Amino acid sequence: MSDCIFCKIIAGEIPSSTVYEDEDVKAILDVNPAAKGHVIVLPKTHAADVFEISDESLSKAVCVAKKIAAALKKTYNCDGVNILQNNGEAAGQTVFHLHIHVIPRFKGDTVSVGWKPGEMPSDMAETAEAIRANLEV
Ligand code: 5GP
Ligand code: ZN
Repeated sequence: MSDCIFCKIIAGEIPSSTVYEDEDVKAILDVNPAAKGHVIVLPKTHAADVFEISDESLSKAVCVAKKIAAALKKTYNCDGVNILQNNGEAAGQTVFHLHIHVIPRFKGDTVSVGWKPGEMPSDMAETAEAIRANLEV
């Protein structure tokens, strides 16, 4: 993808601070981090989001995210780590090349990735059935 900023980073056309790289995956520091040590994991094959990416490519990126999380825990002795991934503008995605955020977390820090829990729905069985009906596994 010639106009994709992450493809350009992967190709070495735009500099990045690389934490890990192999044949399929590159992990770099986020340029506008939520916290020190915020890493983004990039599958090297371009896919805009979770709806486009192959299982193989996603699996490789997730395994790297797991290793990055362990490295962040060792490096910063953080209390927790968020591993998260946005799909679509409505979900907060701003770069349309799938990537996985790995963010060190500390008790009482000011990082915000949460949501306000709703009331327990009365139609949970119907909701689960509606989703099951569209599952392709
Ligand atoms: P999204 O909002 O799509 O889930 O996350 C995109 C992330 O990419 C943001 O956290 C943003 O700071 C990061 N980002 C955007 N452009 C660049 C860049 O050129 N270099 C690096 N290292 N990170 C970038
Ligand atoms: Zn790309």
